Amino acid sequence: MSQETKNCIFCRIIQRTEPASIVYEDDSCIVIMDIQPVNSGHLLVIPKKHIPYLDDSKNDIGEYMFKIGIKMASALKSSDVKCEGVNYLMADGEAAGQEVFHAHLHVFPRFKSDGFGFRFPERYYEMPERKSLDDIASKIKSSIK
Ligand SMILES: [Zn+2]
Repeated sequence: MSQETKNCIFCRIIQRTEPASIVYEDDSCIVIMDIQPVNSGHLLVIPKKHIPYLDDSKNDIGEYMFKIGIKMASALKSSDVKCEGVNYLMADGEAAGQEVFHAHLHVFPRFKSDGFGFRFPERYYEMPERKSLDDIASKIKSSIK
């Protein structure tokens, strides 16, 4: 293990030097229970390769993580775990709320009045002009590789 992966909780879990409740594993991904669940049944889909951010990966791991996430959501819904809906949440970068810098997709059960929610900034309630949306769309479009 490199120093980077030695210091990474997810790499240690993948190497079995740290305990975890494993739900699923294949050649590319592992799925474990989050130790601080939003709701019971909160899962983390983690690529086995140490990739800090999704766009660092030179492969399709993001697509594959989502595919496994959907498989886990189906399992949650057909299990005895309370689950009326599912959130797929990916924090990519510290400003986005990422705390462990080894990419991971949160998949967690939701149900009415579970107390979880998103907090929106004030500007969210003032919808921008079409021109502003078009200008931003154009900036993003020209950066697509
Ligand atoms: Zn790692």
